[in-house]
Amino acid sequence: MPNKYDFDLFTIGAGSGGVAASRRAGSYGARVAICEESRVGGTCVIRGCVPKKLLVYGSQFADAFADSVGFGWEPHLPSFDWAKLIAAKDVEIDRLNLIYKKLLADANVTLMEAHGRIVDEHTVEVGGERFRAKHILIATGAHPVVPDVPGIKHVITSNEALDLAALPRRIVIVGGGYIAVEFAGIFASLGSEVTLIIRGEELLNGFDDDVRVALALEMRARGVTIHARCHVTGIVGERGDLAVTTSHGNEIATNEVMFATGRRPNTRNLGLAEAGIRFDAKGAITVDEWSRSSVRSVYAIGDVTDRLNLTPVAIAEGRTLAETLFNNNPMTVDHETVPTAVFSQPPIGTVGLTERRARERYAAIDVYRTRFKPMKNILAGRDERTMMKLVVDRASDRVLGCHMVGADAPEITQGLAIALRCGATKAQFDRTIGIHPSAAEEFVTLREKVPEPVAKAAE
Ligand code: FAD
Repeated sequence: MPNKYDFDLFTIGAGSGGVAASRRAGSYGARVAICEESRVGGTCVIRGCVPKKLLVYGSQFADAFADSVGFGWEPHLPSFDWAKLIAAKDVEIDRLNLIYKKLLADANVTLMEAHGRIVDEHTVEVGGERFRAKHILIATGAHPVVPDVPGIKHVITSNEALDLAALPRRIVIVGGGYIAVEFAGIFASLGSEVTLIIRGEELLNGFDDDVRVALALEMRARGVTIHARCHVTGIVGERGDLAVTTSHGNEIATNEVMFATGRRPNTRNLGLAEAGIRFDAKGAITVDEWSRSSVRSVYAIGDVTDRLNLTPVAIAEGRTLAETLFNNNPMTVDHETVPTAVFSQPPIGTVGLTERRARERYAAIDVYRTRFKPMKNILAGRDERTMMKLVVDRASDRVLGCHMVGADAPEITQGLAIALRCGATKAQFDRTIGIHPSAAEEFVTLREKVPEPVAKAAE
């Protein structure tokens, strides 16, 4: 009897999650198709993690040149060419785009380069053609959103910031999330005058309070102006010569205005409502722990579900789904204890609970914290300090959270994440021998508890 489906799996969106799910499914012999309306690789590869990190690397040479003088190098000021950096970044993105296509081909995944939409629970339409699939996977990601303020047409988002024709002499960045602070770091290090406008008192909502305070302190020390409890009331002028008015009554002259004010799931024009697939007010598809939507044969993973919007999470959700559907190996993703980094300058690494969350969930916790000038900064004459912090459950001695602001924080945190997943205790951290001389060793030598907040108030 002929198979009533053209494919076992039809994936809409060839970004981190979609590619991972499709490749894994293909490797188990499933007949898989994937459609992509933009470029294979998705946000992370084309306009997210990868190009952003390349610009971070590019901008960090400024510190290296400045610091080198303290280590005996003759003072020198090499010139910087933004256009060259952008061109080099583009070559790398093109290379990765081709690799992703090859990976799909190697896994026998049929690629269709066009918009896809769902017609019914087993049918997808791509470029006017309809395909029947046993399972449909929505992995369409998200896009930046900007608020409706006068003059909003003048602003850019992270998409355009990665492709600016010239390095702006001055830039206003609106938003206090990780994308805003990362771009603030890039532009500030490259010599732009950066003003950050944030709604709240501190940057990085949801991060540990000590991390938030430490980053703001260091960013200000690096010359970034931060207007807290402030919002933009309008933007006037023309591209390259703009003025931003704020709720504080300021008018800030600038060359570019970048809004990093949030992202929304890509669920428009997908046929969700017609197919009876439930989504929330933000447009995020509602799924269970198996990434299954309200329609049994339709699944959704990654940013379109607005769970934990990170590339490795989308990839894990994709692979897990393929294991469940095509390898008789039912799995779910644990969204707890996911490590994450912010490639700000200085960078952040964090895993586990913030002090605030730990106090909500546990009867008693101990907090260990240190703030020190890393060895390199002494000769470099750089004042920047590193902050490290451990949050520990007093009853079980289990380490609940590790937080760091300082050089190499993302690299250091990955290893700590393994320890936390294994349920490591503070005593086990203490018994671990440090690597000397390093900043990382501080995580295994922290001895002094931060006084309890109540005790502190009573002093
Ligand atoms: P995406 O990677 O966005 O892929 C979705 C794909 O679907 C896109 O290619 C899109 O074109 C396509 N698509 C959408 N609708 C349709 C349709 N109807 N038909 C066909 N194709 C469609 N995460 C990290 O972990 N670390 C970082 O350092 C990091 N930095 C970031 C920096 C920036 C500036 C941004 C914006 C994001 C960053 N992220 C980072 C987040 C990360 O990029 C996302 O979490 C990740 O890409 C989500 O993967 P996804 O598969 O859900 O969606």
